Amino acid sequence: MQVHRPTHVEIDLDALRHNFLLARAQAGEGREVLAVVKADAYGHGAVPVARVLQGAGADLFGVAIVEEGVELRRAGIHAPILVLGGIYPGQEEDLLRQDLTPCLFDLAVARRLQTAAAAAGRILPYHLKLDTGMGRVGFRPEELPQVLAELAALPALRMEGVISHLALADEPQHPFTDEQVRRFRQALAQIRAAGFAPRYTHIGNSAALFSRVLPECNLVRPGIVLYGGLPAAEFAGRLDLQPVMSFRTSIAQLKTVPPGTGISYGHRFTTSVPTLLATIPVGYADGYSRHLSCKGEVLVRGRRAPVVGTVCMDWTLIDVSAIPGVEVGDEVTLLGSDNGNRISAEEWAEKVGSISYEVFCSVSKRVPRIYK
Ligand code: PLP
Repeated sequence: MQVHRPTHVEIDLDALRHNFLLARAQAGEGREVLAVVKADAYGHGAVPVARVLQGAGADLFGVAIVEEGVELRRAGIHAPILVLGGIYPGQEEDLLRQDLTPCLFDLAVARRLQTAAAAAGRILPYHLKLDTGMGRVGFRPEELPQVLAELAALPALRMEGVISHLALADEPQHPFTDEQVRRFRQALAQIRAAGFAPRYTHIGNSAALFSRVLPECNLVRPGIVLYGGLPAAEFAGRLDLQPVMSFRTSIAQLKTVPPGTGISYGHRFTTSVPTLLATIPVGYADGYSRHLSCKGEVLVRGRRAPVVGTVCMDWTLIDVSAIPGVEVGDEVTLLGSDNGNRISAEEWAEKVGSISYEVFCSVSKRVPRIYK
């Protein structure tokens, strides 16, 4: 199907490659890189992103769910794929057939996988997930003796890695990260003493990759930095990251309205002077957040134009009175650069009380991605 609506996302694959190589260099000699491409590569498109990163030397990929791993395999991604999330009843065969590696944080799942792997005559590698302080999924340190004893009794499973996740790495000065690393190190000693020899040990996300030296890890798991986003505002300027995603549309209609005109649902904005309004074909169904109502800014002809009134499902109104020569069809940049001016994901996120991760992930499926 040809797409004629001008609303689209552009993905800069050179920028993606650049950010990956930066992360790889930062990881240092002797460390492998697992590129996190879950959630459709944070909205960038998992298959094209993984193809480029595989070509650039990504050693492994990380997905959240089995279905995401299957999608990558069907697209010809042959590097190891770690499923960071849960494995649910009925997914064992897909996991084995597609050579996906589970993270294990539940003994009932381990037993099911043992049965499925044994029936298939396979030895299934897995990464043991530890909760060192995230409080999310993972075995807690005090559970380890019993967990290790049970895992040792499952001969069709082989521990290939030990994984944990940092809760506060985006606050580099926070002392709790040291505590998590200490617990991780201690758990690794216990695991090795119990006779396991995991090839991979890993705890670092993007923030940790750029703010920590983690000698206990030989694998890093960057996500957001691959896409040019910052794990936290304080990392700004420290890294030569390049934005990967631009979100653009164009002006569908222009009209001048008199003072006192109420705009969009709820008339949350009323003009006070004659105003040149532009209607753009993008709304919250595309991922242009309703929280940007009366708050967002976009770029037209390289200049900022404010969002006026409520963002609708499919339309948004902007005030282009201050932009000389504006015409129907002019390009509008919601995210990205135009003539030296830029709307960053961090700026957008701050306006809606979120993080760049959510901005990228929110761009909906109906917005075509164009790869450059
Ligand atoms: N590892 C795990 C387990 C994650 O859940 C995530 C993302 O949420 C990452 C790594 C990548 O994190 P980031 O995008 O902050 O680099």
